[in-house]
Amino acid sequence: MKALRLSLQALLLGLALLTQPVRAEAPAQLPPDLLAVVWQQTSAEYKALCMQVFQGATQAMRSHVQGGEYLFQDGRLWLQTLVRHPDGRLTWDRRPVALVMDLDETVLDNSGFEAWAIQTRQTYNPKNWGHWMRFQGDTPSSWKALPGALEMICEARKMGISPVFITNRNESGRAATLAVLRGLGLDAPDLSERLYMEDEPNEPKAREALLQDMGLAPDSPEGRRLAANSSDKERRRVDAMSRFHVVAWFGDNLYDFPVDVPNTSAPGEAIRKVRDEEVARNAQRWGTSWFVLPNPMYGSWYYGPAVPSGTQLKVLDDFGFEAWRKKNL
Ligand SMILES: [Mg+2]
Repeated sequence: MKALRLSLQALLLGLALLTQPVRAEAPAQLPPDLLAVVWQQTSAEYKALCMQVFQGATQAMRSHVQGGEYLFQDGRLWLQTLVRHPDGRLTWDRRPVALVMDLDETVLDNSGFEAWAIQTRQTYNPKNWGHWMRFQGDTPSSWKALPGALEMICEARKMGISPVFITNRNESGRAATLAVLRGLGLDAPDLSERLYMEDEPNEPKAREALLQDMGLAPDSPEGRRLAANSSDKERRRVDAMSRFHVVAWFGDNLYDFPVDVPNTSAPGEAIRKVRDEEVARNAQRWGTSWFVLPNPMYGSWYYGPAVPSGTQLKVLDDFGFEAWRKKNL
């Protein structure tokens, strides 16, 4: 009897539920970059990819150095060339051999910032990013490098290759960034001289002087490109190339490489096409002297004009599968 009553109660409850208006749970609003951050922080594949890039780079640099006419002196590798001056004099030009690396998501793992932003429903902005840099500077447990990055830099140094860093962190973060790099074992007496930040205090003057040195008018295409965007790394790249012989470039963003793509252009398909073409045009450099790290969390592939806000669903391409299904199933 008891069992029957229970069954009846269950039936009544079921009927009551059926006759009630359906109150579907609103699907939780998941941030669009949640899976990207989960992948970067937890997947073995991300770690393997980073190690693959850095080990490949080590091998490429080793074979380049062995095949090159370089001079090893004072623990450093030098490119020495004879230069003829306009007055006919000949002098030796000696430049240290270097590799150039971006910092964020190329050497330094900042996925903690992205995780915080998702957990607290905050977003990237200069103020939050400034706090993150300060936190990093103060907190050794947050000093994390990409898998294989430090090992690669260590091997490069053994070969006499100097690491140079070009970052879009601004000058206000210099002390904290140096603390992190030193904490990760990248200390060297001249580390500060090899760290190019954005918005250096003498930026406009430095640009002017560089144009003069290169004999370029400010309104020439190269002059305009150098002045185009304060976050464009072109001026700092040219400056680094005047001081060092660069044998390898590392970044997680197309603009970390000496590409010929304007940082701003017509939005959407046009800029994506230009970016793709530039990647194809440099096909022989990827994996030999240009090394790109994966970053699904943020980057110029997503922000800015490449995939304008609101067009994310439209850029998805099913290769015609749905049309095939409608026709054939
Ligand atoms: Mg980066």
